[in-house]
Amino acid sequence: MLLRSDVEKALFNALPESMDIRFSTTPERIIQFSKGAEVTLASATDKTTTERFDLVLGADGVRSTVRRLVFGPDANFVHNLGYMIGAAQMNTNVTSYPCSDSVMLTELGRTAMTVAYANCGPTVLFSYRTVDAQAELNKRPSEAVQAAFGPKPFGHVLNELLEGYASAGHQWLDIAQQVRMKQWHYGRVALVGDAAWCMTPYTGLGASASIAGAELLVRTLTAHGDDVSSALSDWNTRMHPFVDYQHRRIEQSRALIVAGYRKELIKQHMMIRLMSHQAAAKVIGQAMSRNTTLATKHTDLGVL
Ligand SMILES: Cc1cc2nc3c(=O)[nH]c(=O)nc-3n(C[C@H](O)[C@H](O)[C@H](O)COP(=O)(O)OP(=O)(O)OC[C@H]3O[C@@H](n4cnc5c(N)ncnc54)[C@H](O)[C@@H]3O)c2cc1C
Repeated sequence: MLLRSDVEKALFNALPESMDIRFSTTPERIIQFSKGAEVTLASATDKTTTERFDLVLGADGVRSTVRRLVFGPDANFVHNLGYMIGAAQMNTNVTSYPCSDSVMLTELGRTAMTVAYANCGPTVLFSYRTVDAQAELNKRPSEAVQAAFGPKPFGHVLNELLEGYASAGHQWLDIAQQVRMKQWHYGRVALVGDAAWCMTPYTGLGASASIAGAELLVRTLTAHGDDVSSALSDWNTRMHPFVDYQHRRIEQSRALIVAGYRKELIKQHMMIRLMSHQAAAKVIGQAMSRNTTLATKHTDLGVL
């Protein structure tokens, strides 16, 4: 188990010194020409510059500015699953549980759980169903989550998880949403990672798929030499089966974390019971990774 911030730190530290990194800089306009794109960039000081690039890659996450500028409005690609996800790094472990244990409390339409790490406090994760995701985002994260798990008094474990969330340095709360696109490239602009195919935390593998997808893109570009257009098209074709597989099983993956219907709740409880037996957990883990391997078979995702 690795924290996303540790993965990010490791990747950042591996960048060569010569890399030109500009913080607080946002693309405002992208105009394509036959062998490149002209990008107008705005910095935090409101200074704008226009520069030409051979290839523009939007790796700017689920709310990608590059996607909006080149491919169209979010409404065309971003699908709201009707659930919220809250997460935070807790400062302390959950009392009365060994720090290696993950805890999961589930009810219809809501789940509170922790993910244990070897060298830091657990991550607490909340997921709950909502009919008005935007209204949830307008609330303070800790208030939104507390309200979603009320109104009955909380038990001691849930209380600890809610307090751990409220007192964490940073509370993350967002809508569970998928990005679905048939084509991740247009001319000399391409999207990679969550910007292109956000799979939601329910399926997992988002960070791995972002890194593996970028690595496959570089390999494909290198193999195609100057023919950037064929390289992007080849990459798109090779990457899609894996992403489509993860997108197709979203309801199944979501139901393992948070049940939307009574039938799903029964299945989820059976699965939790099975997973608490070491031998059964091993068989389920093997079956899940076999399915992922099958989905990646033609994709050639070396890093995944
Ligand atoms: C709660 C939660 C749990 C998860 N658990 C897992 C897991 O267990 N395993 C897993 O593999 N994945 C997991 N994921 C998914 C994973 O975090 C994402 O899939 C992954 O981070 C996507 O990487 P990315 O680089 O494409 O996008 P992001 O990580 O979103 O990175 C995009 C970056 O672009 C930056 N950005 C945007 N616009 C600009 C701009 N104009 N200028 C500069 N920077 C900009 C953003 O600030 C951000 O840092 C989880 C996600 C969440 C929310």
